[in-house]
Amino acid sequence: MRFSELAGYLDRLEATRSRNELVRILSEVYRACSVDEIEPITYLIQGRLAPFFEPVEIGLGERLLISAIATAYNTPKEDVTKLYRQTGDLGLTALGLGPKTRPSTPTVVEVHRRLWEIAGKSGEGSLKAKLDLFAALLGELDAASAKHLIRITLGKMRLGIGDPTVLDALSFAKQGDRSLRPILEGAYNRSSDLGLIARTLWARGVEGMDAIRVTVGKPLRSQLAERLPNPEAVIKKLGLVGIQPKYDGFRVQIHKDADEVSIFSRNLETMTSMFPELVAATNSIAVKSVILDGEAIAYNPESEEYVPFQETTARRRKEGIDEFATRVPLRAFVFDVMFRDGADLTPLPYEQRFAIVDELVKGSDTLQAAPLTKTDSVEVLTRELLDNISRGLEGVVAKRLDSPYQAGARNFNWVKLKRNTSGELTDTIDVVLIGYYGGKGKRAEFGAGALLAGVYDSDKDEFVTISKLGTGLSDEGWRELHKQVNRLEVSEKPARVNSLLVPDVWLRPEVVVEVLADEITPSPRHTAGKVGDQPGFALRFPRIVSFRSADKEPEDATTVREIREMFQQQHQRPTLPG
Ligand code: AMP
Repeated sequence: MRFSELAGYLDRLEATRSRNELVRILSEVYRACSVDEIEPITYLIQGRLAPFFEPVEIGLGERLLISAIATAYNTPKEDVTKLYRQTGDLGLTALGLGPKTRPSTPTVVEVHRRLWEIAGKSGEGSLKAKLDLFAALLGELDAASAKHLIRITLGKMRLGIGDPTVLDALSFAKQGDRSLRPILEGAYNRSSDLGLIARTLWARGVEGMDAIRVTVGKPLRSQLAERLPNPEAVIKKLGLVGIQPKYDGFRVQIHKDADEVSIFSRNLETMTSMFPELVAATNSIAVKSVILDGEAIAYNPESEEYVPFQETTARRRKEGIDEFATRVPLRAFVFDVMFRDGADLTPLPYEQRFAIVDELVKGSDTLQAAPLTKTDSVEVLTRELLDNISRGLEGVVAKRLDSPYQAGARNFNWVKLKRNTSGELTDTIDVVLIGYYGGKGKRAEFGAGALLAGVYDSDKDEFVTISKLGTGLSDEGWRELHKQVNRLEVSEKPARVNSLLVPDVWLRPEVVVEVLADEITPSPRHTAGKVGDQPGFALRFPRIVSFRSADKEPEDATTVREIREMFQQQHQRPTLPG
């Protein structure tokens, strides 16, 4: 496939407002792919060269791209800059300046290879080398292709193609319907690598999915926890459980392969350089290879306090990683192990996996096994919950001792119980910002504005509205937010957003915000959980608690399914004091 042909598909993907259309066009792209093409194309359509967890950066910012466009089109830099100011989009700038056609244009595989080559240049003189290579590539492409090449390079593809969209499109391309989705999703949960899945599916068919195993260096999708309203409900549903403190830290998946350690966040981003102390501690574990799951949290030894997530990330950014590491050391409370010395441990019952964790981290100060209390007693569970809350922790997680590690699943193998004040919801909700009210441009400070927030409908792979948000942020917070969402503004409703309300400005659904609300109420205005004429769900008195984009993807937001469960649970009165 020529890159120009892919560019044509990308234009169509960009133009559609419907999620079904996205899947349909994307499956058309896939049907036109050979085995060698499908992997690079899978990364490119998401504006990447490699899977999300591989930190490959092309390393050309706007300034350099302006130079590259000027060189490639033999146009003065000032003219490029001028058009850029008018369009506000370097992709459109290239589209405006480049030639409509070229006699022969490179293939997708070739373009991907050359972008890799550019990404690989580092060290002295590398900027010039990157620039020259990029300008040469641009010089071979027609204007429509250049538009997309530039957006890929800037990481600004605006197609809104989420990972589930890709899985559906692959299933449609191969089978004509959605039926392969569960098998593909299984492979995806084990490897988090869509390109690998696409290539394997094309090369070896559905049978090939079994060969995609848990591998050191490729993060598994994190196992997630369900909610229940109180200790009685937990014991009734699960019986004998293992209880652990719930730390409000940063989820870390730690991989060790010989002496190479990588650390992935909950949304599978590589965070290795953020956690030098965890890398050092993991290196001293006596195993060849291992994958651990845990929660990193800063601990202040003087005040004996755990520092909450929000502060940990903010301070690290401000103070510098090394200084912060010395002053407030970080610990990882390890609660699971998924792989050890070549063996996939995910099928083992939790009790056995935890025993292995215990044995592995013995003697380390930085890596500690999250303490586990086994019980089938409501009293013991209640006591543990209150005890952990009084120590400044969020609550507890109760785990089924006989459960396997189910990558990517949110089910009753793990149940979280948090503090609850009577009458209030027992938990916060993670919403995605999908628009705002308050006038475009003029009211740059957002002053009296409001945000339109949604949750994720995982069955339909859509973002549906649940609330407007107005309170909970300081002036500084609003300014910060404005900076964050500015770049996400789009002129029309994104394809995967389903909303009856029309905000003044639509946003690409990317920013995840944690909110606390008094109650979930039925509402005809919102699309969350809305079926036919029945009302959807809304949040009563929502307030913003924190920003979670550092560790959550939009698809990690609270799901409609969870909202429905929370709605059903909220009138079962908690038996705990607030
Ligand atoms: P939530 O983000 O509220 O859905 O809660 C689930 C999160 O709690 C997990 O993703 C972990 O980051 C965190 N967590 C803290 N302590 C534990 C624990 N002992 N076991 C499992 N998850 C934990």
